Amino acid sequence: MTNLYIDFDGVIVNSIDVTYEMFDKLGLERNEENYSKFYRELDWNDVLSKCEAIHDSWKCLDKIIKSKKFNVAILTHVNSLEEAVVKVHEIRKHFRDITIIPVPKAISKTSMLKAEGAVLVDDFVHNLDEWHQAGGYSIRFDLDMDGKGYPVIDRLDVLIDMFD
Ligand SMILES: [Mg+2]
Repeated sequence: MTNLYIDFDGVIVNSIDVTYEMFDKLGLERNEENYSKFYRELDWNDVLSKCEAIHDSWKCLDKIIKSKKFNVAILTHVNSLEEAVVKVHEIRKHFRDITIIPVPKAISKTSMLKAEGAVLVDDFVHNLDEWHQAGGYSIRFDLDMDGKGYPVIDRLDVLIDMFD
């Protein structure tokens, strides 16, 4: 079975939009230092209470698991240990036994596991570039269907028919 790694933020839930909106409300200058501090100190219970699933993502994940075509894991960057804890609790509301791999933000997702021959679904092109360079198969998740050079999807269950 193919190893399939699915990003969380901006793929399963719209937490990118929610956190950007929270950041903008603070009126701070948009720079790396401010973003970094903001994400390290963010209350993820608050964030996830404001988030919505993207295009039936939880149901799509269930369908993907039931297709038995993939070993599925959720691969998510985290800026703090609290973020990891809250995300695991959130995912466990939907799936009791799906594998969850939190990756410290300072480390590449590609450096956490073997990318070769495995599929990564992510909205962030930098992650896809690293995965592709390591011999993995990159798929972009984008609601505008802009693949930036990669196959692109805007809902997760179409993955089932992309692989035979
Ligand atoms: Mg993402």
